[in-house]
Amino acid sequence: MDGPTGEPVTRLDLARLRPGQGYHFLHRADLIALLCQGAVEAGVTLRLFSRITAVDLDGPHPAVVLDGGERVETPLLIGADGLHSRLRAALNGDRPPFFTGQVAWRAVIPCEPGAAPVAEVHMGPGRHLVSYPLRGGTLRNIVAVEERAKWAEESWTLRDDPMDLRLAFAGFAPKVQGWLARVEDPWLWGLFRHPVAGTWTRTLPQGAVAILGDAAHPTLPFLAQGASMALEDAWVLAEMLATHDTPAAALAAYQAVRKPRTSRIVAAANGNARAYHLSGLSRLIGHTGLRVLGRVSPGMMLSRFDWLYGHDVTTS
Ligand SMILES: Cc1cc2nc3c(=O)[nH]c(=O)nc-3n(C[C@H](O)[C@H](O)[C@H](O)COP(=O)(O)OP(=O)(O)OC[C@H]3O[C@@H](n4cnc5c(N)ncnc54)[C@H](O)[C@@H]3O)c2cc1C
Repeated sequence: MDGPTGEPVTRLDLARLRPGQGYHFLHRADLIALLCQGAVEAGVTLRLFSRITAVDLDGPHPAVVLDGGERVETPLLIGADGLHSRLRAALNGDRPPFFTGQVAWRAVIPCEPGAAPVAEVHMGPGRHLVSYPLRGGTLRNIVAVEERAKWAEESWTLRDDPMDLRLAFAGFAPKVQGWLARVEDPWLWGLFRHPVAGTWTRTLPQGAVAILGDAAHPTLPFLAQGASMALEDAWVLAEMLATHDTPAAALAAYQAVRKPRTSRIVAAANGNARAYHLSGLSRLIGHTGLRVLGRVSPGMMLSRFDWLYGHDVTTS
């Protein structure tokens, strides 16, 4: 959608990409509850409120130290510890990320009745807003991105005044402004770029370690693929461990399969940041091109995403 006018630019029907394959909108809490239930049913013991303060890869076994001082050794240590991963730092050193010059608000509001299960991207100069219904159309998710010169903190837990969000999108069409009028308590975060980690795995004399998800390849949220990549990583890692004779061979195969794909997705998400925020002549040309291509050859538009949405780690 063109943000200021509210006019459609183009439409991608992802259901047409692969017959029988859906595209689903999931609330983060529901996905985590689902994964938790699956893990418990598979016999996993969960230990909550256990902050890891140090990772030790110098001994024969990988080990972590908890904030109470307890040391836990394990034959296989998997770091799914997100953006500020301690295990990534232990494997790759600490490389500070750089600020992309963009901040994002996120909020959930009550959804208007009868909203279509469609994700809308409203694009304007220097900003864009993505929105879609959640939980059977009872809630609406909003992620709004604005270009900004300065930012200090990379955090997921900073609140902002909803007026700041409304003012940033005051030039957008009434539909978007209606959504933003209902936002009460938005979160704001700065978008930073981290390189994809060079080293994802290591074998020790009596153990091995691996990282996955944001720990290995934090991404900008412009393709909605961060959690998808983490789930794909986990699937491939489990499969490699089940089908290789040694952890060393399994982990090498895991990194070889996952690194090229995740690097490509991270690069594509970086590119989307520019494409969404065009202004002036490049905006006119870009939107006109998308409109024409969407009308003349919607199949061609869709096929450009086949590598992304058509990939199925459970069959490849
Ligand atoms: C607003 C927003 C919208 C997004 N939208 C999408 C989307 O639409 N689609 C999509 O696929 N992705 C999306 N993402 C990205 C997605 O959320 C992440 O890529 C995904 O959560 C990464 O999963 P992860 O398990 O690797 O890391 P995380 O979800 O960050 O989990 C890391 C876990 O490790 C724990 N941890 C970290 N350090 C320690 C420590 N020292 N000791 C103990 N525990 C620790 C944390 O508490 C956390 O539970 C979005 C992200 C944001 C912020």
